[in-house]
Amino acid sequence: MNAPAAGTNKLDVARIRADFPILEREMNGYPLCFLDSAASSQKPAPVLEAMDRYYRQHHANVHRGVYQLSQEATDMFEAARRAVARFINAPSEQEVIFVRGTTEAINLVAGSFGRAFLREGDEVVITWMEHHSNIVPWQLICAQTGARLRVVPISDEGVLDMEALARMLDGPVRLVAVTHVSNTLGTINPIRQIADMAHERGIPVLADGAQAIPHMPVDVQALGVDFYAFSGHKMYGPTGIGVLYGKREWLEQMPPYHGGGEMIERVTFEKTTWNELPFKFEAGTPDIAGTVGLHAAIDYIESVGREAIAAHEAELLRYGMELLAPIEGMRLIGTAPQKAGVISFVIEGTHPYDVGTLLDKMGIAVRTGHHCTEPLMDRFGVPGTVRASLGMYNTREELERLAKAVEKAAAMLR
Ligand code: PMP
Repeated sequence: MNAPAAGTNKLDVARIRADFPILEREMNGYPLCFLDSAASSQKPAPVLEAMDRYYRQHHANVHRGVYQLSQEATDMFEAARRAVARFINAPSEQEVIFVRGTTEAINLVAGSFGRAFLREGDEVVITWMEHHSNIVPWQLICAQTGARLRVVPISDEGVLDMEALARMLDGPVRLVAVTHVSNTLGTINPIRQIADMAHERGIPVLADGAQAIPHMPVDVQALGVDFYAFSGHKMYGPTGIGVLYGKREWLEQMPPYHGGGEMIERVTFEKTTWNELPFKFEAGTPDIAGTVGLHAAIDYIESVGREAIAAHEAELLRYGMELLAPIEGMRLIGTAPQKAGVISFVIEGTHPYDVGTLLDKMGIAVRTGHHCTEPLMDRFGVPGTVRASLGMYNTREELERLAKAVEKAAAMLR
């Protein structure tokens, strides 16, 4: 595994790239230029190797066996939980629940917290820049409980209207659910400030960390959040594994989300009692290999350095915006001063899908469409955007390629 020299805050990107086998591929005759890490990042060899080793050498079901192999698997599973707790500075590993990803984490809170605490006339506050995963679960639970969804507006730059939020918080609000970083705009929201405002009124806060966790240090205690959700596959780990961090005081009051094996203390047909945290929320056989891969991803990120990754990507973001902005007809969507990892744009007279298709022909992988944020597209009056998103392995040269290719594509389409 490669890492920058200790003491420097600069990434050795060439060495990092050598750890990601897929980056050696060619696409349509060009070296692959992968600019879609916000959808899912690529995986370094140590993650692939850890999962392979787990299945070859250590696999058995966890928590149930007295035999050596099952204990090895259990130890690896629980070591991953400790690594996650340390990575996000959770006060206790019992507050770390393994789930399939951000979507499941938010559904867990909406379903369980919602059933316990939401009543007719209550309100849940979200923002205009949420991913569908942080909209639809709340709509579902609101429909079941009679609670109402309130949406905090944003400015034309993509900055949250904090005054509107403050006004909304004076209503009968039971929970605030807000993204830490917007997957479409890149806006970094002031989570600590939001948590302080909500807590003054006794309201808990859930942050959707899907787009923050790969890009910057995340400390759930410093952020002051009650719940924090993220996915392994966006942080160089495998698909199928994610995390819900929840404060013990809430998790203990919340009913189980799924019923099944492992989440029980004692089952009779008359009455079942629940296991302790975090197992109360982990029904069924978990994605054990996924947790092993996630652990390896955490180790990898830490070996590179989260500050160094953030600095590298901030520089790339600045450079990429600078290169794209002068292109004829360019409209950058999302120009907040606090921004991470994402460049979204539309070009007058072209459709994002057509631009994306032409970029692919030049070996450049970007995402086009609404990025699971349809209300946000409506807010900006566009059907979709072209979105280039960054990972630690991206380079200035790739952004130069992107800008040239976008210019060429736009000229061909107009
Ligand atoms: N929230 C945000 C901000 C996202 O970017 C995504 C993934 N695009 C999700 C939630 C959903 O994540 P997953 O599909 O891994 O559950």
